[in-house]
Amino acid sequence: MESGPNTKPIVVADLMSDLRAVMSKEMTSVRRLNAILTILCEKLYMPTAVLYVMRPADVLEQSVMVGKSIKLPVFVRVGEGAVGSVALEKKTRLDTAKNAQYKSVLTLPLIRGNQVIGVLTLLSRKMVRLPPEIVEAVENVCMVLSEFLTDLNADKSSQALPNISGPETLEGTTLVGGFAFGEVLPHRRMELSAPILATHPAREQKRLALAFVRVQQVIERRLKRPTTPKEEKEIFETYHLFLNDTEWRAKIDSAIMSGLSAEAALQKTAEDALDKMRSISDPYLKERAHDFQDLTARLMRVLMKKGKNKKIVGSKILVADSLGAAELLDYDLKHIKGIILEDGSQTTHVVIVARAYRIPLLGGVKDATRRLLEGDPVALDCSAGRVYLHPSDDTADALKVRQNVMRKWQQLYARNLDKANVSKDGVAVNLMLNLGLPGNQDKLPPSDGVGLYRTELLFMTTKSLPDIHTQTEAYRRVLVQSKGKPVYFRTLDIGSDKVLPYFENHREENPAMGWRSIRMVLDRRALLRTQLRALIKAHAGKTMYIMFPMVTDVFEFLEAKRTLLLELKAMTARREKAPVDVKVGTMLEVPSLLFQLDRLLPLVDFVSIGTNDLAQFTFAADRGNALIANRYDVLSPVFLRILRHIIQTCAEYNVPCSVCGEMASRPLDALTLIGLGARRLSMSPEALGSVKTALRSLSVQPFVAYLESQLNSTQPSVRSALFSYLRDHQVLLGEV
Ligand code: PEP
Ligand code: MG
Repeated sequence: MESGPNTKPIVVADLMSDLRAVMSKEMTSVRRLNAILTILCEKLYMPTAVLYVMRPADVLEQSVMVGKSIKLPVFVRVGEGAVGSVALEKKTRLDTAKNAQYKSVLTLPLIRGNQVIGVLTLLSRKMVRLPPEIVEAVENVCMVLSEFLTDLNADKSSQALPNISGPETLEGTTLVGGFAFGEVLPHRRMELSAPILATHPAREQKRLALAFVRVQQVIERRLKRPTTPKEEKEIFETYHLFLNDTEWRAKIDSAIMSGLSAEAALQKTAEDALDKMRSISDPYLKERAHDFQDLTARLMRVLMKKGKNKKIVGSKILVADSLGAAELLDYDLKHIKGIILEDGSQTTHVVIVARAYRIPLLGGVKDATRRLLEGDPVALDCSAGRVYLHPSDDTADALKVRQNVMRKWQQLYARNLDKANVSKDGVAVNLMLNLGLPGNQDKLPPSDGVGLYRTELLFMTTKSLPDIHTQTEAYRRVLVQSKGKPVYFRTLDIGSDKVLPYFENHREENPAMGWRSIRMVLDRRALLRTQLRALIKAHAGKTMYIMFPMVTDVFEFLEAKRTLLLELKAMTARREKAPVDVKVGTMLEVPSLLFQLDRLLPLVDFVSIGTNDLAQFTFAADRGNALIANRYDVLSPVFLRILRHIIQTCAEYNVPCSVCGEMASRPLDALTLIGLGARRLSMSPEALGSVKTALRSLSVQPFVAYLESQLNSTQPSVRSALFSYLRDHQVLLGEV
């Protein structure tokens, strides 16, 4: 069967003219893609072409195979095998193999705006001679393919790119990570099936009162149950508040008096209230609409004497447009293996509950309720943000392999949590936690303290400005929880996307660069003073660490510090117990501060680099804009030089410097920060195990030398180079 090298001439002109012909014809995107790959196979005499598409979490997925079928892995991690290496190194490779299936393999990266978006591989059973001009021509075709893939992804109305793994996939945003397999279980909401009008208002009111009492009892029982997770308790406390809202109750009563049944009155008033809640732009209040909807559904169920959800068996993937946390809790959770929602965001209560029960959850999945029907088998890959409908055995197997790999990493992280934060060559690094976001305050891993406490959450979750007492109690709780370890409290970083419903809301063209954070509280000094007073009270007898966000000019730091000193003085005058020590620092997240370090550093006790904002303002690239999300990399020589400059200058001035942006939560980026000299990192609690594991497997000194050489690179990112180095040195970077 096998013969010698293929000697038929390959003509570039033919290849390009066929390509132009295909591009000019009317056809669906998927057909066009197949046609291009077929031309490549024919003109290069390589019978198989396989296209891998980059998915989130640096996984390449086999998407299209044209020509002779060959068994190849469905998923390939960046850096793995020829396909993964091409994605990592962004360079074409021609390999020869002594493989029964193929002898020649040409593998090329598909690049768009510096990012690898896919990999094309062409395979032949014979040895194929490919002169450089031919390889170059195929690289040109890859440029066309890259363009085409990007358009295909951007055009949501076009037919989605097929997957080798199954006929249909849906994409969404990972809200709780993990993998899940099961059958679709559509969530059914209660329909009003009671009469709308009633003749005896008194009887209806009595029924309503009874329903309120019943629901109240259920809630109280769950609140008292010791096994109820804290997240669940918080939700039921919110219901409790709604149930005791006398204004709402009066509205229902008056609707009943006008002749409606209890059910209809409940529905009418609930819909009015929901409309109002949804029209508010504040994300927190929007989320509370879910809770309210959830509560009215419960009341309705009691009124209509409907029981709980019908019994379920087997493994189910719950699918809904939106879902309340309590609606989820009504299911027998041991059968709910995953959740797919059309809406949903990190702050949704249902997400917090799903996280507490470790149920993978994908949100923002368009048309999920229409496309996923009862009983459909699905596989949920929350690390890549995808749902596979009717997954093939290959896909299911490949996902299970990744699930196992992920589990093993998680087990390793858990084992390392109690070990020291030291590198292989003895470099100790302080690993702290970022706290303050909902849902991550419980079951904290052992750490060196809280490197960033975002105080704005309390302000966003109250109906009005929290008074000094409420604030003091909240800060005290954090200090108790930290058990004597330092907590770096950041003063209010409000404005931009974090709006307070009760606070004047100015429409701004560029809110991220607008009246926010320290700018706002210096203008509304009472707000800052109250917060500082509460922080001082909470720190009686303790060391206090305070930092100010978004400082753009040294003057702002001085003003904020002056306010703090005034409050401390006033406290002494009141003869209240003082903090034993006060350390005042700043976030370093606006580039203008870089040019004032000589003035700033002698004035501060510490700085914390907010890489999220620092990168946003350095690259002039909105951190929330998906279109440019991957355009600039924090692992670019320019950004790394900036970080090195800050870290080194802080060391010269003897000012402790930590990094608390998202970079510190990603193992590869965190090690790079350590390589640049950072010895304090603050990260999300879930990231601690992976960063610590990576640190413990690294020899810092040789890495520093390599990293230094990379800072002279002219590439826009040195991510792949650093990744290759660390992988080659057996550093445990985990499931990337
Ligand atoms: C940052 O900007 O890096 C940071 C930690 O603050 P936030 O993400 O809260 O803006
Ligand atoms: Mg910031």
